Amino acid sequence: MSHRRNPCLIRPAAFLALPLFAASVAALSGCDKLKFGKKEAPAPVPTTVVKKGPTRPDIDYAKIRPNELGRIPVIMYHEIGLKPDRNDPGLVRTPTQFKADLQSLYNAGFLPVNLSDVVNDSIRLPAGKSPVVLTFDDARETQFKLLETDKALQIDPNCAIGILDAFHKAHPEWEMRGTFFVLPKSKVTMESFRQVGMGGQKLAYLVEQGMEIGNHTTLHKSLRNMSPAQIQEEIGNANNVILASVPDAKIRAMAVPMGKFPKDKNNLKYLMHGSYQGKRYDFQCVMAAAYRPIPSPAAKEFNPEKLERISPADGLNGLGDWVKRLKASNPYPVYVSDGDPNVLSFAKGDERLVNFARLEKQGKLANPYSPFGGAGGAKPIVAGSDAAAPPPVITGPGTKPITGG
Ligand SMILES: [Zn+2]
Repeated sequence: MSHRRNPCLIRPAAFLALPLFAASVAALSGCDKLKFGKKEAPAPVPTTVVKKGPTRPDIDYAKIRPNELGRIPVIMYHEIGLKPDRNDPGLVRTPTQFKADLQSLYNAGFLPVNLSDVVNDSIRLPAGKSPVVLTFDDARETQFKLLETDKALQIDPNCAIGILDAFHKAHPEWEMRGTFFVLPKSKVTMESFRQVGMGGQKLAYLVEQGMEIGNHTTLHKSLRNMSPAQIQEEIGNANNVILASVPDAKIRAMAVPMGKFPKDKNNLKYLMHGSYQGKRYDFQCVMAAAYRPIPSPAAKEFNPEKLERISPADGLNGLGDWVKRLKASNPYPVYVSDGDPNVLSFAKGDERLVNFARLEKQGKLANPYSPFGGAGGAKPIVAGSDAAAPPPVITGPGTKPITGG
């Protein structure tokens, strides 16, 4: 898999960056009031005003050790069910396992954000917390199931949404965040999340709760050998059908079915941009189906045209394994927030990893610090974030990229 060693096969696309806090210089109009014919000397006023930009967060750096160049796990869920899949252990998590996943992430200092928060580099978390993105593919019924009572529709407490809702209520700082790569209503799926007649309502509920809808094509076919027209139909039709029922949805991401990218490199661009039946689609990122936590969006190596995800499976390269290794910077350090989305805090010495052009476009402040105090960065943290570090040593069974997205 060549993309393991070289994740930047494709040049990053231009971002839709908001010029937050851009230091703007505005000329003030001169104060030239006249008083009944008697001309007063104009009061001395500054002719320019420099708008104040972001400042260094006042936090305990030695204790919090913010690292906004660290990696972010994007977890790929499919089924929340009781029957394990022997061929692909990451495909099914039982409700008990899913709850345990959330609890272990929470205990390790993670809080959920939507994928677009990452891609737009607008992660808003308290200082010391690490972002995690939960993604759910295929719009399976066990992700979002409604139980019909006489009077109302109730969320099944054992489906993903039911479990997330209960977890959020028990831990309010764990907000309802997640990105659902859904299949739209079609002659094959019948309905998003399978329950006939309820798909549109469920999609609207997700958006209303602050979660996100992503595109997973229409029929979940391999895009590998499709023509540009076929790729755009598969993706564009899905967008059009979803937006017809949830016009407020902002579909910003797509996940390639089964992790199979078009073979013809010239066709890769249609994953991100295209049109079908006169309607355009424009995404900010494309998700693969394997297998490492993604680089920080502020890092040079962040490539939104192919972002990896990790499997929730137990064992090597699974969720538990990565959480442990991220915390130990083996081989990548984890992203730790400084609490201010307009400042990028990282250990002195890691400057070479930063995408300064993007930072500048966003009007953000670069904040290299010495985690051990003192000037000059006496002991910068470089473990795992060193660009010259060897690639992760991953051997033995279970090393294959996990597919089946
Ligand atoms: Zn899928």
